Amino acid sequence: MIIVTTIDELLEVTSSLKGSIGFVPTMGALHEGHLSLIKKARSENDSVVVSIFVNPTQFLEGEDLDAYPRKEQADRKICELAGVDILFMPTVDMMYEKDELNIIAPAIRGFILEGTKRAGHFDGMLQIVMKLLNLIAYNKPSNFCAYFGKKDAQQLVLITQMVKNYFINVQIVPCDIVRDSDGLALSSRNVYLSTEERIKALSLSRSLKRATELVMQKEFNTQIIREEMKKVLSEVDIEYVALVNREFEQIDIVELGNTIILVAGRVGTTRLIDNLWI
Ligand code: AMP
Repeated sequence: MIIVTTIDELLEVTSSLKGSIGFVPTMGALHEGHLSLIKKARSENDSVVVSIFVNPTQFLEGEDLDAYPRKEQADRKICELAGVDILFMPTVDMMYEKDELNIIAPAIRGFILEGTKRAGHFDGMLQIVMKLLNLIAYNKPSNFCAYFGKKDAQQLVLITQMVKNYFINVQIVPCDIVRDSDGLALSSRNVYLSTEERIKALSLSRSLKRATELVMQKEFNTQIIREEMKKVLSEVDIEYVALVNREFEQIDIVELGNTIILVAGRVGTTRLIDNLWI
């Protein structure tokens, strides 16, 4: 595995790659969720590039930028064992100049849910993803796929739209959510949870399970499903419970094969999100 920290180095090493590239952008503190993306990229491509970059522009004032878990040594080892060819670990100065222009997330998909709770987050996220995708596409690989988790559903939908709107030559590959055996969706932020909080956090995935049960019983009214989910979430400081279609439009009736059920909330000071695609 080659580790590169500068853009010049990255462009040089990617210029000699032959065949398809699978790219997995991350913020590090890698877990099985990230690893599932890397494994999928590995199985579908000639070369795999992973980036680790805690992107400051997607953190809002007062969020956990400084405290965000950083595990550089362990991450390197995980990437090496997973057969990653190139690990890109740039510095902030490397990725940003002063007074950069920003891409603004479109209102229709950006303003609801995460877009209101973390206003500006998606603008910074799209900014860095656009930069990273352009860097990997720079040497015109014969085929270029980038892997993103459904865990960040709204992010995935916005990136897919950005790639289409800005004609970026990459195929976005959505990847399933990886959970712990007790149902908690894996997240780098789970390390913030105390034992007690972790138990409370399980109600997020339980609420989604409850929604599935209701749908299986042919309850398709989204208002009723939301109310039932909220009952399961009594120990969580709920930010939203929402049912949307794949375009992220609110829906009144579940459309099988075209619905995403999302939940976000705080347990203690830790903000957690989870979702289910049905
Ligand atoms: P992050 O490091 O949090 O920016 O995440 C990097 C990528 O890993 C994103 O595409 C996430 O959606 C994905 N990811 C994070 N957690 C999971 C998970 N539990 N299952 C699947 N993908 C995940």
